[in-house]
Amino acid sequence: MVSNAGSYWKTIGLLIMLYSFSCYILFVTVLSKETNDLRLTPPNDAYELNAQQKMSSSDEYLIDLLLLDNVTKNDGRLVLKIFKKDDIWFVTPLKIVLFHAILAVFYPIMALSIVAICSYFIIANYQQRVLRKTLRHLCDVTDEIASIFGQEKLPLQSYSRLSNLSFALDNLAKYATQYKMVTEQGAFCDKLTQLTNRHTFLEHIEEQLSLNEGAKESGLLFIDLDGFKQVNDSFGHSFGDEILIQVAERLKSIVRSGRLSFNQSNVGIEKNLARLGGDEFTIFIQHIEHSESAIDIAKHVLTELERDFVLGNKLIKISASIGIALYPDSADKPNALVQLADVAMYRAKKDGRGIYRIYSPEMGSQLKRYHYLLEEMRLAITSNNFYLTFQPIVHTEGCVISYFEALARWQHPVEGMISPMEFIPIAEESNQILPLGDWILDESCRQMFAWHSAGMTKTKISVNVSVIQLRHRPLYQWVMDTLARTGLPPTSLMLEITESCFLDISEEIIVELEKLRQAGIFIAIDDFGTGFSSLAILATLPVDVIKIDRMFINEATTSVKYKKILKSIVDMSFQLDLKVVAEGIEDIIQFELLKSLGVEHIQGFLISPPESSINIGNKVLKQGVGHLAHNGAGVWKPKTSSIMSHAN
Ligand code: C2E
Ligand code: MG
Ligand code: MG
Repeated sequence: MVSNAGSYWKTIGLLIMLYSFSCYILFVTVLSKETNDLRLTPPNDAYELNAQQKMSSSDEYLIDLLLLDNVTKNDGRLVLKIFKKDDIWFVTPLKIVLFHAILAVFYPIMALSIVAICSYFIIANYQQRVLRKTLRHLCDVTDEIASIFGQEKLPLQSYSRLSNLSFALDNLAKYATQYKMVTEQGAFCDKLTQLTNRHTFLEHIEEQLSLNEGAKESGLLFIDLDGFKQVNDSFGHSFGDEILIQVAERLKSIVRSGRLSFNQSNVGIEKNLARLGGDEFTIFIQHIEHSESAIDIAKHVLTELERDFVLGNKLIKISASIGIALYPDSADKPNALVQLADVAMYRAKKDGRGIYRIYSPEMGSQLKRYHYLLEEMRLAITSNNFYLTFQPIVHTEGCVISYFEALARWQHPVEGMISPMEFIPIAEESNQILPLGDWILDESCRQMFAWHSAGMTKTKISVNVSVIQLRHRPLYQWVMDTLARTGLPPTSLMLEITESCFLDISEEIIVELEKLRQAGIFIAIDDFGTGFSSLAILATLPVDVIKIDRMFINEATTSVKYKKILKSIVDMSFQLDLKVVAEGIEDIIQFELLKSLGVEHIQGFLISPPESSINIGNKVLKQGVGHLAHNGAGVWKPKTSSIMSHAN
């Protein structure tokens, strides 16, 4: 602005100088012409120069300025020498000459002045217009910028564009400051919950630990919600988002009430609490006296998150699993602390959810094994390292084979046999159970079709289906497609679903199961007695078979109470028209007890361990094709002859 004003006045000065110089040249030219004219036609009033006097210095300056010669001083006034006669100069007063010259230049100078003034106004007007245009453009630009900031077009404050512009610029400065705050917050915060993000959280711990330099213990909680995926799957992602926001609010108030706050940033975010992603949150506890303090906070978090979440007219119950890592015992770097707390959280999940666990080194090796087996499993699925074994379930009368349960086996090239108790949970957690489960169902149906064709028309094959498969596969279509592909009739198939899966099964899955039952497929509740479901749900679930868990039967042989419960389960099942199978029968006492309670189908090592398909084929088909064709089922003769005698 200053430099613009300076150049403006410079231009004005230059123009004035140019104007003055032009006037001067004009005047001098006219004066010179006037003196020449006087010499050519001398005026009548010219008089003799009587005595030349010396001129003052100011007179000399004036003469020089007017570019005149032949000027002298006579009787105290300046005179112009016009002509010489007889050595006598005739002169006329310079004042008169100058007066004539002034009269002669008056009109040209007036004209020049008018031109100059007009030019000035024209230029000024032009400049005004340019300025107005520029202002209009600037106002448009400010409106545009305001709209980028999401603001309405600014209302005009006055008729002057300049003051509107200044008002708009003030507003823009305000928006820019707000925007800076928001973007800074965006850089530090998780968008959904407005909690610190992972990066800022780790930086913050790094800073605090370096200030602390191992002087005091600290703790880190890794909090993961239980069953959040189901909430998302059942109610949709925006519902899930709302839950996450409410969880964040509860954690914030725990951090504040527990004086765990660290809030020094200028954007006002809580740095000791972060959302690491998904349903994972973390709290950093600076300076704890001993691990008990971290445990107290973990317990507080667990109780707070177990309180109902209210969303619209819905009440949602969720819990959390918490892993605790301690500084410097567990680790002394932020990343490692988070990682180890995650390992401990993973253990809390495995140990039953809704609980906390403190990290210990032995957990780390388990996690390593988990990742190792997961990687190996991916390879094993593609390189056919899995195979199926089949365990017969027989009728207590005559040991007629009712069905075979297909049980997956993993023959690892280095580790040898890996138990399903170890690999199935890993496959479920990583969703690898989906490709593996596809193969198991396919292979089971293929095998059963072969046996069915060989005469085992009344024997079924039973396949374990995990809850992950129920949720991710279009159940009815998936099973019917496999049956169509393998040629096995639906009535030869049974699906085993663990009791605990039924606890939070969705309405859609129940409908799918019912459709399968209508098609002739049997549905069994596996491991019944371990999932804490009430007996009443048996009446509402779409099932045909109850498989009572091995643990339950074990208890029943020693405890009268368990025996009574077992009896009531069996009685109730019969009343509901359900078939009862007892799992894990290992000895004759168990066998007798179950038989006395009226259980008709048993599975267990007492009859046979799971066998390869070849062994099954050999054993059953040995009984003769004619026998099979007549009965539609083989007999599984156990090694213990006493059973056969009991059975018969
Ligand atoms: P499950 O479905 O309850 O299968 C019965 C388990 O009990 C089998 O263990 C079987 O070998 C074992 N068993 C049978 N009789 C006796 C007995 O008399 N005594 C004892 N101690 N155990 C007996 P397995 O094969 O190790 O399988 C364990 C679990 O792994 C299965 O329990 C099932 O939940 C899961 N699983 C196995 N194969 C599959 C599969 O193909 N798909 C799925 N989703 N899960 C499977
Ligand atoms: Mg089973
Ligand atoms: Mg079972």
